[in-house]
Formats: sequence, structure tokens, C-alpha cells
Amino acid sequence: MSPPGRRRGARAVVAVVLLGSTLALVAPAAPVAADGCATWRRTLSQGTTGSDVRRLQVRVAGYPGFGRRLSVDGEFGPATRAAVRRFQAAYGLGVDGIAGPRTLGLVERLQDDDCTPAGFSFGELDDGCGGRGFDGGRTTTATARSTALVTMWKLQALRHALRERPITVASGFRSIPCNRLAGGAARSRHLFGDAADLDAGPHTLCALARQARHHGFQGIYGPGYPGHSSHVHVDGSGRSWRAPRCGI
Ligand code: ZN
Repeated sequence: MSPPGRRRGARAVVAVVLLGSTLALVAPAAPVAADGCATWRRTLSQGTTGSDVRRLQVRVAGYPGFGRRLSVDGEFGPATRAAVRRFQAAYGLGVDGIAGPRTLGLVERLQDDDCTPAGFSFGELDDGCGGRGFDGGRTTTATARSTALVTMWKLQALRHALRERPITVASGFRSIPCNRLAGGAARSRHLFGDAADLDAGPHTLCALARQARHHGFQGIYGPGYPGHSSHVHVDGSGRSWRAPRCGI
């Protein structure tokens, strides 16, 4: 279920303030996520490895390039470098593919205390049938939660590309019973925290669907695909563009 509109509005204000670099106002404290939310203590560049690289990869997962997906493996290779370059370009930083103090500082300003990006929350991505949490899917609770975090950072990239206007998540992670109720496929990516259904307003469904291809979403189902006239489904698996009314 989506949270009340008022809450989303409040988060949007926080996002705008954070983007304005006014650090006096921060999002309310929340439980620390499974991947931890420590600040970065060194510059990361091609060839470095470690959990800090992994945390960076989660946060630039929305910049893999058209139709691609970034591996979150803790190894800073060419694909991570390219993602950092796209992230830097998207935010008007110097583009060098190196995650130094300026780039990492911006990443830190974009995230809430629980490691979620400013524009999204675990509460928007957890059980789509009104429950709470990430248990009862087709993977462990911890994996579903950390995958949902990656999904949120992809959505943040999508939101930034769409001029920071809020994106409404109608359904995110689903438990098996919830997925059954929603009529989802037996192996739906919703069961893994790897999918989100997005409502229109202020964006058109086709604007969401088309732009999502640039931000790590490889399975996209929208207008023209049966059952998807009122929302766009995006997930990080496969390679499916099924939104015929939005072009090719
Ligand atoms: Zn869906």
C-alpha cells in the first residue's frame, strides 16, 4: 500500500532541502539497514574492492546505461566506473569515474539515516498488501530488504531524471500470499524485492516506462500490455520491454 500523500510530501521537502545542501535538516532517524550506512573513508576508483565499493554500487545502481544492470559485487570495475561517471554527469559534478570526497559527499546527502534514498522509504516498498516487512517472499527477509534498497536507488535515479517530481509506488515487495492476491506470476520479481509497480501522476506511464530503461530496470510492463493500463511494472531481471503503446 502507498503511504499517505502527506508523508510523501514531507519526504519530498526533505529531498529538496538535502539537495540544497542544507544539512541542518535531516530525515528522521530510522533503523539501520542490513547493508549498514557508514560514511565512506577513502576514495574509490577502478581496481578497488570491498564492502565500501559494494555500498557505492547500490547507490549508483540506477546508472548502468541503457538496458543494463550493474552488478553489486564489491569490485570496482569498468561498469562501476561508467556508472559513477553517469551519476556525476546527472548531478553536474566533474565527470572522472572516481568516487572521491565530492561524489561520495553527494551520495551521503542523498541518503536517509537508514540508507534509503531521500525520495523513497522501506515503508513504500514493503508488503504490497498492507502488511509490513520483507518476509514471506521467495528469498530471505534480509535479501528481499537489501534488494528493495537497490530498487529504491534505481527509482531515485529515475526520479532525478524526471526532474525530482515524486514517483508513486503502488506495490513493491510482496509475500507469497500477497502476490497471489494481487494476481502476480508465480516467480514474480515482487517476491524478491526486485520490482515496483508505479502509478501515473505527475508523470505519464509511458514517461516512466521509457525512462526506466536507463536506470537498471530490465523488465518493463506498461501501457498496451494486458493488465498494465493503469500502472507500469519495473523490475531488475530479464530483458523485457512490454509497453507497446509507448513505442519501442
Ligand atoms: Zn508488478
